[in-house]
Amino acid sequence: MTQIIDGKALAQKMQSKLAQKVQDLKDKEGIVPGLAVILVGEDPASHVYVRNKERSALQAGFKSEVVRVPDSISQAELIALIDNYNKDCSIHGILVQLPLPAHIDDNAIILAIDPQKDVDGFHPMNTGKLWSGQPVMLPCTPAGIMEMFREYEIDLEGKNTLIIGRSNIVGKPMAQLLLNQNATVTLTHSRTKHLPELARQADVLIVAIGKGHFVTKDFVKEGAVVIDVGMNRDDNGKLIGDVKYDDVAEVASYITPVPGGVGPMTITMLLEQTYQAALRSVSK
Ligand code: NAP
Repeated sequence: MTQIIDGKALAQKMQSKLAQKVQDLKDKEGIVPGLAVILVGEDPASHVYVRNKERSALQAGFKSEVVRVPDSISQAELIALIDNYNKDCSIHGILVQLPLPAHIDDNAIILAIDPQKDVDGFHPMNTGKLWSGQPVMLPCTPAGIMEMFREYEIDLEGKNTLIIGRSNIVGKPMAQLLLNQNATVTLTHSRTKHLPELARQADVLIVAIGKGHFVTKDFVKEGAVVIDVGMNRDDNGKLIGDVKYDDVAEVASYITPVPGGVGPMTITMLLEQTYQAALRSVSK
């Protein structure tokens, strides 16, 4: 029988524990974890993501600041805004919602964030630390997937794991987190040959490509664990994953749904990492 990995339930459980930890930090140290989110332009999906992050942050007792700036903002103005938050002691996490308008260089913006406040884990200092085995701030989506493995006691040691998609925010950091758990990792992408055959050798398959219902049961070994990161809209505007859920559920041992799988865990890890950053600020 296929077991559903319920990301929504796990996220709720973790966020209510987090709310308690936040309350304790307030009571003992007088510190409220602060998260600043900067949203540039009018991308409707980004506005929805940012609203969800703000709501969850407030529910967990955080200080939440959301700055919405127009597309016309210059790179220098955006960097100046980030720098104010770098210096602001009441803010422990800074997130700039991607994608950014074409005239702004994503890399320059990521570099401008203080690595200690880089709760998305995208700063080269943090990606470097992750690859050298001293992780601090982790990219939230792969970190949330690792929490799912822990919660469902899915052992990764020595397992054949295969990731489809090599983005900086999902595929690449996912590979390192799996390696840290002694999994054998194959990282695949759009130029990979014989992908379904390769994928069928995986005990754990993680899909992050952004193509609705791309992965069918032809890609999945009987009993494999399948994690679907994709968030796509079908022709009717319905949210669907990269995995054809009903088809793949016939063979998978565990599977994440979309919605209610990886998405809620991403927000949870963002809050958890902001809390951890606030905690580290106490011991400074
Ligand atoms: P991305 O930056 O667009 O990267 C997509 C990756 O998929 C690339 O590495 C690309 O290969 C690979 N790819 C594309 N078509 C492929 C194919 N036919 N076969 C094999 N590989 C293929 O995507 P992303 O930012 O990682 O996001 C992926 C999906 O996850 C999107 O739907 C996004 O909305 C979703 N997402 C969800 C969350 C969440 O919290 N649930 C978080 C982040 C992203 P090349 O490198 O060769 O081009």
